[in-house]
Amino acid sequence: MSLALARKYRPRRFADVAVQSHVANTLRNAIAGDRLGHAYLFCGPRGTGKTTLARVLAMALNCEARRPDREPCGECASCTRIWSGSASLDVVEIDAASNRGVDDARELRERAMYAPSGQDRYKVYIVDEAHMLTREAWNALLKILEEPPPRVIFVFATTEPNKIQQAAAPVLSRMQRFDLKRIGPADVRERLGTVLATEGITAQPDALAMLARAADGSMRDALSLTDQVLSLGGGTVTAERVREALGLVHEDEHLALLDVIAQRRAADVFGAVARLADHGVDFAILLADFADLLRAQLAAVLGGTLPDLSDRLKEELPKRAAQFTAGDLLRMLQMVVEVEPHLKRSGQQQLLFETLLVRFALLDRTLDLEAVLKGVAAGSGGASGAGASTAARPVTEATSRPGSGARLAAPAEERPGSTAQAARAEPIAAPRVSEPPPPPPRRSAAPAASVVAEVADRPAPRRDLLPLDINRVAEHWDAIVDSVNAEHRALLLSSTLAHATPTAVTAAGVVTLTVESDAHADIIVGGEAVILGALRRRFDNVQKLAVRTVAPDGPRAPQRLNEGLVKADRMAMLRKSSPLLDAAVEALDLELLD
Ligand SMILES: [Zn+2]
Repeated sequence: MSLALARKYRPRRFADVAVQSHVANTLRNAIAGDRLGHAYLFCGPRGTGKTTLARVLAMALNCEARRPDREPCGECASCTRIWSGSASLDVVEIDAASNRGVDDARELRERAMYAPSGQDRYKVYIVDEAHMLTREAWNALLKILEEPPPRVIFVFATTEPNKIQQAAAPVLSRMQRFDLKRIGPADVRERLGTVLATEGITAQPDALAMLARAADGSMRDALSLTDQVLSLGGGTVTAERVREALGLVHEDEHLALLDVIAQRRAADVFGAVARLADHGVDFAILLADFADLLRAQLAAVLGGTLPDLSDRLKEELPKRAAQFTAGDLLRMLQMVVEVEPHLKRSGQQQLLFETLLVRFALLDRTLDLEAVLKGVAAGSGGASGAGASTAARPVTEATSRPGSGARLAAPAEERPGSTAQAARAEPIAAPRVSEPPPPPPRRSAAPAASVVAEVADRPAPRRDLLPLDINRVAEHWDAIVDSVNAEHRALLLSSTLAHATPTAVTAAGVVTLTVESDAHADIIVGGEAVILGALRRRFDNVQKLAVRTVAPDGPRAPQRLNEGLVKADRMAMLRKSSPLLDAAVEALDLELLD
């Protein structure tokens, strides 16, 4: 059997570009209605079909069959040549990664000035990795994009449109931009199922789910991975075969580790990890998979299910729901987020993984989050009590220390903001029957008069605002930048802010932004009121802005802050990838520091 499914099943018609039908249909209609643009920008993650779509467009424009629906026939000499990516007079594919300079762009411009080879043909330039083009190269192209020769079309494909925005914003207005969707696991599964059925190969649903997960949004990768599995032998594609071919750890091993943690058998961690090491497991992959399992367990605890779970996990995880709390799982996920980047680089992967599991197994669960929540919810005036205790806190403690341990376990009255939100979160974190009766509601001590006097001139913290904290500011930074852009249409300011890094907050409410040039600093100082406004809509006690300039190769911000930022960044990504986790974090307002 001939392999290379990715190639064999690369779409030949707009109708085959299933997941990106929003773009495919627009393009086909543009051709049919003779409303074609001169330059297109296809944006999207790798493996989503940018080049494929560009080729289908070129095929449709030059197809000898001239079908009335303007779909390429896929079979004529022109279609075949373009589809296979082989040399063609009229369709030129350029990899900008290796042709990024101004000379390359000039050459491209010269070539584009020549008319297509035939009366009814189009010349199509497909520029892949377009974000790699230099500013000078874009400038060289700008002219031809402004006054394009007839029947010449440019298609730029990129995974990073923001880099083009930075290097050559003016060219963007000369292009029609299409954003290709990330291909979800369900789409990948479906497509793989169809492809294998066409090949006459049966596959277990679990096996398809594993392949889809490993492909991580890339159809091309999914098909290549399937090739990899098929190359090791024929017959039904089973979960076991996929695991073997991709070097994945069996689900039972994952579940066994989960049980070691649930049952607090810390001593058993060592044997289990050693056994996995004997099998030559890649601990970086294992950690990523185990994080997925924790996420799925969290979903089970919260009473939801994740769509791309195997049947076995759908059955097993709810059984363990009573052994974990949402708070514990979130803390574990946060610990994974912290360890993961170190583990990837480390020569001590086994040791790091082992240590992490031991920490999970010994995780301090003495203060049960849900018991605290219940206590807060049960206590009448719990929220106002929290407010009073917040006011009572010395001002010097208003800024939490990044990286300080075990914040989650702090008693409720020491966590301003969390109590009120936690009370709201109670219906989500449904109390479990096995739970011990909640402790009596904890009331905060009456605030000492002297402390009240000390903070009396400050407005009482608003409960819908987050406490000002560097990690939180970093975590919310993208959203703040977005809101500046959305509410003020301040494009220059928001794009400058996107390159600024919040590096410190002080107890007095000064937020420091670090930028890479004085020009950026000036723009930020000019927009101070807008930035403060955006910060104040989210955070309590924002008083002032400070700007610090650090040359790109100059001294770095302190390590501790960098780690905090990396952490916040990773958490934001994790939250983005899991709406459920996001909702849980939002609802419980958990401080995910450690
Ligand atoms: Zn054709």
